[in-house]
This record gives sequence, structure tokens and C-alpha cells, in this order.
Amino acid sequence: MTDRGWKKRTRYCGTLRVEDVGREVTLNGWVQKRRDHGGVIFLDLRDVSGLMQVVFNPEISKAPHEVAGELRNEYVISCRGKVSPRPADSINPRLATGEVEVMAEEATIISASLTPPFEIQEESDVDEALRLRYRYLDIRRRDQLEPLILRSRVAAAVRTFLDTRGFLEIETPMLTKSTPEGARDFVVPSRLQPGKFYALPQSPQLFKQLLMVAGTDRYYQIARCFRDEDMRSDRQLEFTQIDLEMSFIEPQDIISIMDEMFVELFRQVLGKDLAAPFPRMSWKEAMEAYGTDRPDPRWGMVIRDFSDIFTATDFKLFRSVLGEGGRVRGLKVEGLISPPRRELDDLVSEAQRLGAGGLVWMVREGESLRSPVAKFLSQKEIEALTEEAEMGEGEVLLLAAGSGDLNAVLAGLRQYCITRFAQAAPEGWALLWVTDFPLFDWDENEKRFKSNHHPFTSPPRKSLDLLEEDPLQVTSDSYDMVLNGVEIGGGSIRIHDPELQNRIFKILGLGQEEVEEKFGFLLEALRYGAPPHGGIAYGLDRLAMLMAGKESIREVIAFPKTQSGLDLMTGAPDIISQAQLRELRIKPI
Ligand code: ASP
Repeated sequence: MTDRGWKKRTRYCGTLRVEDVGREVTLNGWVQKRRDHGGVIFLDLRDVSGLMQVVFNPEISKAPHEVAGELRNEYVISCRGKVSPRPADSINPRLATGEVEVMAEEATIISASLTPPFEIQEESDVDEALRLRYRYLDIRRRDQLEPLILRSRVAAAVRTFLDTRGFLEIETPMLTKSTPEGARDFVVPSRLQPGKFYALPQSPQLFKQLLMVAGTDRYYQIARCFRDEDMRSDRQLEFTQIDLEMSFIEPQDIISIMDEMFVELFRQVLGKDLAAPFPRMSWKEAMEAYGTDRPDPRWGMVIRDFSDIFTATDFKLFRSVLGEGGRVRGLKVEGLISPPRRELDDLVSEAQRLGAGGLVWMVREGESLRSPVAKFLSQKEIEALTEEAEMGEGEVLLLAAGSGDLNAVLAGLRQYCITRFAQAAPEGWALLWVTDFPLFDWDENEKRFKSNHHPFTSPPRKSLDLLEEDPLQVTSDSYDMVLNGVEIGGGSIRIHDPELQNRIFKILGLGQEEVEEKFGFLLEALRYGAPPHGGIAYGLDRLAMLMAGKESIREVIAFPKTQSGLDLMTGAPDIISQAQLRELRIKPI
């Protein structure tokens, strides 16, 4: 007995098995369910490890039976008793502990509970707002707890792996100066420096680079990041990165060590053996074959260029597009055979919705094609098409033509076809690397270049001459990791030469003064002997979401916020007192 009047557990509920029969145990936990079978009371007792059936039989022991009479769902109790085999007709094969029960000899109520606002049962369908308002009750449900357990295992496996590879876990500040990752900052007013603000880190990017200048060689951190962006199912205002950085390395070094880490991670957490090295494709190849930099190769439907077939075509539309330097690209639909016209019309509407001027469909019928444009095509063109696209009988080929960027349309169509016609996702995990992203993108609204990754990303040496001349032709030493079509991480080799860093800032349109003001500390550090370095960061929430088979990162975050940034449990964000505002020199509105 503790001096607070309850007995400490000797075992966890979910761990008892037939081997334990005859053993005396004390359990601590919550009443999941209570059933009164005319005298004998049965409890399902729950703790973090699972459920255990406890039996209160007045003929065996009167006092605990009286306590059991007072119990309601979610009461916290301590009880002692003997482990017994269950009678054959009450064995529950769906429960790990389903072959045994505990015959209570002593029971104490530790805490009472109000009637919960929803049933604390696995898989009961509860409104998300209610779940978030009472998230501490929600997490009592096994299916809500499991993803948090998995997430913890992921973090632990990562820590162990990186620790054994010589990475140092080093914390970086939360109250800092804005580190631009392209999102809006969260800011914190400073009381000691009135009128000034800290920014919460969008990532530890500059600090980890400074740690390399500091000679720490290999850094990692499971780091909280803040970005004031609109939320989606895979985005929250605050999220967690597995963040790391290494010195004296090339892209291949990061890629190899991360390959190893992911093999280890999947083996330890999911018991899955992944085959490394994971495939690599350049950004250009990914855009060409999948129309996106986040390809999901689990379904074929690779996008191909059919322009060559039509160089001398009589089909006017294709001829004029090709004449203007455009292309004809398309994909063969998987899982769709000899569809009716209605289905094909839907595909055309979808292409238009995605922004295409039009879409040409073709269905193979013997040696010819059923298509609105078939009459404009020569037999030679038809043969070349069916052969190149490897069209079987009844199979459908979709072609888009244009001189602009067809990628968004083709990637959208591919996704539409996957959702609509393809088989469910094949078992397995498609992990791959996309490398060599462009260094800059052109922002048409602001009429200036922007970094595709961030301004500290290094271009390869060989393209330094092109930097000012033709910035959009320059690639970067960058790499993203994609898991089942979702970007889970990204990084790059950084610039360690202050002059090159200055050139990049200039191309981005930053004036000398602004550079000094925002990044002076970085440029200064780079002048004190900076090692070549690079790193990567993974979204831990997203990774855990995928590994747990969930659709939203809210499912792997203990206390997530709603789409509109509210914490329904605590009521944050909230107003603060006049006194607090005054102290911060903020005028109430
Ligand atoms: N800091 C980068 C990000 O948050 C990742 C990296 O370059 O390491 O996207």
C-alpha cells in the first residue's frame, strides 16, 4: 500500500497470459466497461498496455464486490487478485489477454470520473472537434494511442542510429531572428527590448550551418519548427523536423547515410525490410516521367513524349503545336479497358479542369484506334503510337499537346486515373530520391527570382559561370526524399564561400544593406573558415503519419490544432491582459 491509500501495480493489464495463471497481481487502470451479470461483476480494466478482465464475485470476496458496485466508466482503480484461466465459453480470441482473468480480492477507487462526452472505445465514430476538445480522453482509445507510440519509436530509432554514427544532438534557440524558409514568421514581442520582436524558427537552418562552422562536424536535432501558413491535412502551424547537417561531404554521403537510416527505421518500427540504395532520379527526369517532383512509382502510367511520331502529321492541331516548339505527351491508363464514351468524356473534362486546352483519347481496337481524331492519323502513326505506348487491346492512351508546361495537367490526370481506375495501392513502400532541383524559380507576380529550396543551397561548381547569365538553367546540389508520392524530406549542400553566398543574394534581388541586416552574422561566420557542409530535414509528423497509415498529421500529434489554428482544448490563441500588453508596449486594438 502506498501512503496515499492505493496499491501500486505489480503488472500491466495487457501483459497477462496463461503462463501467469495462479499469480497474484495488482493492477492500476481505468474502467473501460462494467457488466453486472446478476451478482458477478465483470470489468474491462485498461492501462497503456491494453485490457484485462477483472471479475468481482461476492461469493469469493464481498468487500471488493461492493466497491465494484460503485464503479462507473473511466473511474481509476487499483485492484489485487489472482490470475485465473477463463472458462472455455468466455475466452476472447480477439484480445491478447483473452484467455485469462483476474479474480478480485481487493479494490480501491483512486479517482472518480464524470460521464465522458463520448464513448472511450476504439474506432467509435466521434466528431473531430469533440475529440480535440477532450483530446486527453481521445488518447485513452487504443487506436489514438497507437500512432503516438509509433511516432515515439520512430524518434527513438532515429536518435539511436544518428548517435551511433557520430551525430551530436544539439539544441538551437526558439527565440531567434527570422530564418527564411519561404513562409510567414510567428513573432514574439520582446519585453526587454521594447518594440523589437523575436521570430520563432521556421527551421534551424542557419544555426545548423553555424554549428558546422563551429566544427561540430555532425549535428542532429528533433526540432520544433513554426510556419504561419494555411493548414492542410499534412500541415500544422508547428511541426517537428528530424534535422541534420554534416561537414566535408558531397550529396552522395548524405544520401547513403539516409538510405541506411531508413532501412534501419523501417526494420525496427514496422519490421519491414527495404532494399537500399533507394532509386534516384533527377528533378528533370521526375518532371518528364511523372509531371511532378513527388513521383509515386507504385503505379506505372509513366508519362511519355510522343512528339517524334507526329513530326510530319496531317493532324493540324499536333502539327501547329510542334511547329511552335511544343510537344505531344501522354500516358496509357492502367485499369481501364474499352471504356464507354461517357468515361472518356469525363477524362476530357478533368483535363480541362486541370487547365488543359483539350485532351485527345485513343482506344486500341485491333489494328486501328477509336478516337475523335483517328481519321486525321495515318496508319503508320497509329502503329507507331500503339507500339511505343505498348497498348494492348481496348487500352486507352491520353495525349495532351501544347507549347507551355504540360506537367501539371499530365500529373493531375495520372493522379485522377490512379484514384478512379487503378487497383488499390500495391503493398509496399516506394522510397526514392529526387535530386538536382533548379536553383531558382521565376516569380511572375513579383517579377524576380526566388530560391527553389532556400538561398543557402549551393549550385554545382560546374555551373557557376551561368549564375548571372542564365539563372534558370542552373541546378542545385539538392535532394528530396519521397515516400509513396509524399515529400518527406529535403536538403542540400550549402554554400560555404561568402562571396558565392553574396552573389546568390544579389540574384535574389536583395540589396547590400538588407543582406547585411538579415544575414550579416552568417556571412561573417563564413569568413572564419567554413567547412563544406550540407544536410537534410525530414518532417517527422508526415513520416509518422505515413508509417502509421493515417490520412492526417493530426493523428500523430498529441495536441494538434484545427484547420483554423485553434487549440480547442486550451482555447489558444487567446487575448492577453491589458497589463501584459502594456508591459510589451503593444497598443490594444
Ligand atoms: N531547413 C530546410 C527545410 O526546412 C531543410 C534543409 O535544407 O536541411 O526545408
